[in-house]
Amino acid sequence: MLSTAEIGIDLGTANILIYSKTKGIVLNEPSVVAIDVNTKQVVAVGAEAKEMVGKTPQNIVPIRPLRDGVIADYDVTTQMLKELLKKVSKKLGLSMRKPTVVVCTPSGSTSVERRAIHNAVTSYGAKHVHLIEEPVAAAIGSDLPVDEPVANVIVDIGGGTSEVGIISFGGVVSCNSVRIGGDKMDDEIIHHIRKNYNILIGERTAENIKMEIGYAQADHKEETMEIRGRDMVTGLPKTVTITSTEIYTALKESLEQILEAIRSTLENCPPELSGDIVDHGIVLTGGGSLLSGMQEWLADEIIVPVHLAPSPLESVAIGTGRAIKMISKLQKAAK
Ligand code: ADP
Ligand code: MG
Repeated sequence: MLSTAEIGIDLGTANILIYSKTKGIVLNEPSVVAIDVNTKQVVAVGAEAKEMVGKTPQNIVPIRPLRDGVIADYDVTTQMLKELLKKVSKKLGLSMRKPTVVVCTPSGSTSVERRAIHNAVTSYGAKHVHLIEEPVAAAIGSDLPVDEPVANVIVDIGGGTSEVGIISFGGVVSCNSVRIGGDKMDDEIIHHIRKNYNILIGERTAENIKMEIGYAQADHKEETMEIRGRDMVTGLPKTVTITSTEIYTALKESLEQILEAIRSTLENCPPELSGDIVDHGIVLTGGGSLLSGMQEWLADEIIVPVHLAPSPLESVAIGTGRAIKMISKLQKAAK
């Protein structure tokens, strides 16, 4: 008899990852869907749909159904999930097995949205579906000893949100979420270029600028980058050279808001756990933690050690996969 497959899904606002216990990460795609508005059909999902952002004819619209950390459109979210499950099901042999699935949903999702996701995964043939809280999944996937009675502080900077959680003894002691993440940083870059150069750039260009010359610290070796966009006066394409210092300035406010969320969570930490934080520090994960200088900047600001998770873009997916083991252990113990 075939053993039951076990799958973890990180339904992130920027990226969706699917993790299989036996095969590791089997899918890692942007949370984007391209829809034909005339027929309401899904034309493409994932990387293929992200390629279309800002480049499609009018009837084809790329949608990010999880924008801003909430499930803005759960019909589209479930369609996207089903398409992506279909894509990996062959690899995983899902048609033959009834997998146990653990899904990590954005913390801002409502019970209605959670139910919709639960149903979408169940209708795909899952035997058991469990939903897990983001900070817990992120902490497990970052190798933190979440079962121990010590304060594990995890900061997950994603696309739509940044989540700060303190986990001890397997549970969330305190957590905080702000709707500021990589998307907001991209928006600030678009705004900066428009205001200072009268040039319109798209989201993908902004994201590239952030990854190439974005810094969290004022003090860094200045870099420059040549960018292209549309001149708002002439309407024609135009190239300009921008510096990392001006991008730093554009990102500053978003970064301050993330810092504020971390500070207030640490301030609300039970005093018995505060000592642990001074010793062990905090762990950064999520794609936003890869911004250059992030770790050093935060360490200077909060004056506790700041560590980077082993694979920030994969922590949550790995954590959901590992959580299955814990959940099945608990179920076995209950029998
Ligand atoms: P989510 O969990 O919300 O799907 P992710 O953890 O996948 O988000 O992170 C996606 C965000 O991380 C995006 O905004 C992306 O631009 C950003 N990101 C990825 N790599 C880098 C990098 N090297 N520097 C700065 N930001 C990055
Ligand atoms: Mg995430």
